[in-house]
Amino acid sequence: VLDGLRRIVRNFIESREYETSVNEFVKELQKELIRSDVNVRLVMDLTKKIKERAAEERPPPGLTRRDWFLSIVYEQLVNLFGGPERPQVKPPKKPWVVLLVGLQGSGKTTTAGKLAYFYKLEGYKVGLVAADTFRPGAYEQLKTLGEAVGVPVYGEPGSKDAVSIAVKGVEFFREKGFDVIIIDTAGRHHREEDLLAEMEDIAGRVRPDEVVLVLDASIGQQAFEVASKFHNKTPVGSIIVTKLDGTAKGGGALSAVAATGARIKFVGTGEKIDELEVFDPKRFVARIMGLGDLEGLLERVKKAKVELSEKDVEDILEGRVNMRIVYKQLVSLRKMGPLRKILEMIPGLQVRMPVEVDSKTLEEKMEKWLAAINSMTYEELDNPEVIDKSRVKRISYGAGVDPEDVKALLKQYEAVKSISKQLKRQKNLLAKMGLDT
Ligand code: GDP
Ligand code: MG
Repeated sequence: VLDGLRRIVRNFIESREYETSVNEFVKELQKELIRSDVNVRLVMDLTKKIKERAAEERPPPGLTRRDWFLSIVYEQLVNLFGGPERPQVKPPKKPWVVLLVGLQGSGKTTTAGKLAYFYKLEGYKVGLVAADTFRPGAYEQLKTLGEAVGVPVYGEPGSKDAVSIAVKGVEFFREKGFDVIIIDTAGRHHREEDLLAEMEDIAGRVRPDEVVLVLDASIGQQAFEVASKFHNKTPVGSIIVTKLDGTAKGGGALSAVAATGARIKFVGTGEKIDELEVFDPKRFVARIMGLGDLEGLLERVKKAKVELSEKDVEDILEGRVNMRIVYKQLVSLRKMGPLRKILEMIPGLQVRMPVEVDSKTLEEKMEKWLAAINSMTYEELDNPEVIDKSRVKRISYGAGVDPEDVKALLKQYEAVKSISKQLKRQKNLLAKMGLDT
């Protein structure tokens, strides 16, 4: 009887339920990625791949489907960013001439200062060139930054000839044997064509070793167009994404990568001079996927095992539960992370949790619950019904938690028991319909 039931349950999970959960996951993921400004077509491509793999493969035993799918998406996204390794940021030759381009307000001048500071700390002799002649006060802004970090700034206040400044500035530092020369440019002109033409001129005359596109993380879906425009005039060698300390997830950067074929090398994480980090693809992908702890997920993908045994599952299906099962459930739940789908660990996903457990609160309570369980007697573990008021007091005292926490745990137990009872009823129903053979 049980074998038949198990087969039905398994078929159910692996066919209909499996497909439903794939579709649900894909929908959720699409929303998250689009919310993170990842290009819509790219999102569709990605999710199509997941559906294909989900149709062909099954998650390895012990891994929740959600974690498994996430790891597939992660892999695909990380590849789009050029792989899991951090980029090489060491200047390959001396001097290394860097031309910063990007829209007004994207953070070029700030980033010029940050880069100067970064490379100075690495032991390089760095010079800054102020070639934004459009924005009033652009020279002074860079000058101030340079002074703050002790890096000389070449500029010609009052001049309108950005190309000439760039050429002379680079020459100035080159002659003095500087290692890294960073050119800050305008981000706006009277007309967009003028700006792009100026960048083309500067790049043509200076012949920089690296054109760096500076991109505000919040640029969103426009990133592709903006990056393409610059790339057409001044082939972009690398990208710096700024303002990642803000709310924007920065998925637009992926479009810029697609438009230019360039790698992201640095990210800006604040207004301060030292708030620049070498790009970490893993962390960035975790961010646009809306995952807090990607390392944790990857760990779980490697070694997660569901704690419930066959016997436990049998017991649950028979309507028999005890505190030990609840305990195992809590432990595996915590191992899997605070996921809302506690029921993924029990066959019979059609059952709804009678008590809606908020995963965050659950995670907070978990410690206390586990402590309380550890303070229970064997009798209490096997038959939690015996736990009366005075036992609650004793357990909470022994575990160092509030009696309220112990009561909440008992409620959790009741919830699991009620699920178990429902499963048993369903089993009986299936048996009556002759489906259990
Ligand atoms: P530019 O017009 O491209 O030269 O941009 P600016 O360097 O003048 O920066 C525009 C604004 O963005 C300034 O207020 C900067 O302080 C701010 N900014 C630049 N990078 C970052 C960053 O990584 N995080 C935050 N929060 N603000 C930034
Ligand atoms: Mg500027």
